[in-house]
Amino acid sequence: MRQSSLVVVANRLPIDDSVAPDGACEWRRSPGGLVSALHPLLRHTPATWVGWAGGTGPAPSLPDIGSVRMRTVPLSGEDFRDHYEGFANSTLWPLYHDAVEQPEYHRRWWEAYQRVNQRFAEATAEAAEQGAVVWVQDYHLQLVPGLLRELRPDLRIGFFLHVPFPPPELFMQLPRRAELLRGMLGADLIGFQRAQAAHNFAQLVAKVLELPATDRRIGVDDRVVRIGAFPVSIDTAEMAALAARPDVVARAQRLRHDLGDPGHVILSVDRMDYTKGIEQRLKAYSELLASGHVKVRDTVLVQVAVPSRERVTQYQILRDRVEREVGRINGEFGRVGEPAIHYLTQPFDRAELAALYRVADVMAVTPLRDGMNLVAKEYVAARVDDTGSLLLSEFAGSAAELPQAYLVNPHDLEGLKQGLLSALEADPADVTPRMRAMREHLHRNDIRAWARSYLSALDDGGSLLTHLAPTG
Ligand code: UDP
Repeated sequence: MRQSSLVVVANRLPIDDSVAPDGACEWRRSPGGLVSALHPLLRHTPATWVGWAGGTGPAPSLPDIGSVRMRTVPLSGEDFRDHYEGFANSTLWPLYHDAVEQPEYHRRWWEAYQRVNQRFAEATAEAAEQGAVVWVQDYHLQLVPGLLRELRPDLRIGFFLHVPFPPPELFMQLPRRAELLRGMLGADLIGFQRAQAAHNFAQLVAKVLELPATDRRIGVDDRVVRIGAFPVSIDTAEMAALAARPDVVARAQRLRHDLGDPGHVILSVDRMDYTKGIEQRLKAYSELLASGHVKVRDTVLVQVAVPSRERVTQYQILRDRVEREVGRINGEFGRVGEPAIHYLTQPFDRAELAALYRVADVMAVTPLRDGMNLVAKEYVAARVDDTGSLLLSEFAGSAAELPQAYLVNPHDLEGLKQGLLSALEADPADVTPRMRAMREHLHRNDIRAWARSYLSALDDGGSLLTHLAPTG
C-alpha cells in the first residue's frame, strides 16, 4: 500500500457518495464548512484523506481525486446511529454550542465513539509514511490523536476543532471528560477557532488532568503540546471571481426581478440547526412586519435552510417549528404573489449561492453559537462592489475578525430588531468603508493563509510546506 507524507483525517471524505459510471469523481460540496475549507489546499498536494464515504455497510473503494488518495472507513448502521448521530451530534454538538439544546449522555454512544475513533486511528496508521504529518479534524474524532500516538509515535499529529470549545462549567458535565481531553492531548498541536477556546481547554486540562497548562503550552509526560487559535477561512479569491462572472451577475439580476424588484433583500443561508438562531430571526422579522417598520412590498427575506441530521429528533422538531412559523408569517403578512419570506430547503451550488449573495442588501447571520460561520465570510467575499451590510451574531467565531459587521446578540430580540433595521437603513457612505475593510481582511486571511499558518506551526522546521500549492 502506498503511504503518504500528509494525511488528513476527517469524518467525511471530500467526495460525493456516488461516483459517476466512468469512474470520475467530483469534489463534494456539502452544506458543511470543512469540505469547502480544505478543498483548495489539497487539490495539488500528494496526500491521503481518511474518512467515511457516507452510507452504511462495507467501505467502497474510491479512486484518487487528483493527487489525493481516498481511504474509506466503514460505518455500520449501529455506528452511524450511536457514533455520528449519538455521541458526536447529540452529546458533543449541543454541549459545545452552549447547550442551547440539552446534551444527551448514553454509555452505548460513548462505546461507539471509542470504537469508531479506534477504526479511524488504525486506518490512519496504515496510510501514513514514517514521520508523516497527520491532520485530524473536528469533534467526531477527538480520541484519534491519542490512539494514533500509541500506534505510531513517529508521526507529527495535529488536531483542529472546527466547532467551539465550551467553558469548563459546561464541559464538566461530560461523563467521560478526562478521556476526551487525553485523546486530544495525543496531538503535538491543537488548533481552535478562537483564543477563548484555547483558554477554556487549558483551564480544563489543569483542573481535570492536573497538568501544567498555559493558553499556549501544555506539559504531557515528556512532551509539550502546543495550543492556539487558527481561525478558519474561505477561498476568498475564488468566491470573488465567481461573484464577478457574467452569468452569475445575470443570474443575480434575474433573481432580483423574480423577487419583485424590492427595495431591500435580506438573505439568510443556514443548515437547519438549532444553533443557527433561525427561530429568533424569524420572530424579530415578524415583529418588524407587525409594527410596520418593515413592509412586504419594500422588503423580502430569503431564508435558505438546508435540512441536516434529519433522523435526530431535535432537528425534526426544529424543522417543524420553523416551517410552521414561516407559514404563519406568510399567511399573516404576505399577499398573492408577494410572500414575506421566500423559504427554500434545497441545497444550492456555489454559483447559485454567489448570485444570492450578490442580490442580498443585508445578509443576516445570527447563530446562537457558531465555531466560525463560513457563510458570513462568503457573503463579504462576494460583495465585489463593496456594497451590502452584514448583520452578524457576536457568538459566531467570524465576529472576532469582522468587527465592521452590524454585531448583534441574537438572544436579545429588541437588539436583533434594531440591528436588522440599522443594517437595512444604513447610509451607503457608511456601508462601503465597512465592507471594504472586511473584504481586505479576508483577502489577507484566506483559506490558504489558514492552512499555511496551522501546518507551518505543526510541521515546525519540516519540509511539508514546500509541497503545498503556492498561495495567491
Ligand atoms: N452551503 C452550500 N449550499 C447551500 C448552503 C450552504 O454549499 O445551499 C455551504 C456554504 O457555502 C458554506 C457551508 O455550506 O461554505 C456552511 O458552512 P458554515 O460554516 O456557514 O456552517 P456549518 O454548516 O458548517 O455549520
